[in-house]
This record gives sequence, C-alpha cells and structure tokens, in this order.
Amino acid sequence: MGDQPLVAGRDCGPCAMCCEVLRIEALDKPELTPCAHQQGGCAIYPDRPPACREFYCGWRALPFVGAHWYPPDSGMMVFPLASEKRLTVHVDPARADAWRQEPYATDLANWAQAARRMGMRLAVVVGRQEVAVLAE
Ligand code: SF4
Ligand code: SF4
Repeated sequence: MGDQPLVAGRDCGPCAMCCEVLRIEALDKPELTPCAHQQGGCAIYPDRPPACREFYCGWRALPFVGAHWYPPDSGMMVFPLASEKRLTVHVDPARADAWRQEPYATDLANWAQAARRMGMRLAVVVGRQEVAVLAE
C-alpha cells in the first residue's frame, strides 16, 4: 500500500485496468499489456512488487475525479504523474469514444482549464495512441 491519502469509500473491486496499463519493471511487464499474474485477481498479491503496491489511479487518489470515473464503468483510467506534472487518461480501445461522451467530456474540459492554470499536461490516450492533448 502506498501512503498517500485516498478518496474515502472507494475500493478497486473487480477492476484491474492498471494491471494492464502500467509498466512494471520488476516483472518485465511492458505498459499496455495484460499482466500474466492477473487471473481474475492478482495471483501473487502478497508478493506483488512495490510498483503495484504503491500505485493508485486517479479514481482512487484524486477527489476531483468523480465516482462515475470508476474504470470498469467509464472505460477509462486516470493516471496521475505529479512528479512530471502530467495527467493522462487511458481509454479502453474497446470503448475508444468514451472520453467524448458526457459527463466525461465536460469533466475533461474543466480539468483542462485547471491543468493549464497549473502548468500541467492533460492528454487522452487510446491504446498506444495519444488522441488528444487537452492542456500542456
Ligand atoms: S485502475 Fe484504479 S480502480 Fe482499477 S484496480 Fe487500478 S487502482 Fe484500482
Ligand atoms: S503483479 Fe498483480 S497487482 Fe501487479 S500488475 Fe500483475 S496482477 Fe496487477
């Protein structure tokens, strides 16, 4: 577990989107590739590497990311990289237009305004393709 504050009342449940999106060096797992240990749950959960233990997506960690952004519901995972002043929205290629639909499109427009003010980059990625840069 990481030690950052998390949004109260949110649990990953059956979601495993980060297990596909993240690059896990310790496992030689490339980004955007399903983890071999993801078998309807993490098969090595007690021994999963720190990169897995410490990661929380935006839905878990960022209060401004509304409940409707739960990845299995929205088809999207918000990936915050504060150290690089980046917020990336990874969209499930099977639902490539999810980010254009409401209420997500309005949320993204609002986040883009805030990101510009803070000098942050906000981008939308579908699979390996960056389809929109909303702020930079
Ligand atoms: S993408 Fe977010 S909600 Fe889904 S498993 Fe990862 S941390 Fe949990
Ligand atoms: S080791 Fe477990 S927690 Fe880490 S990416 Fe693989 S399935 Fe997910």
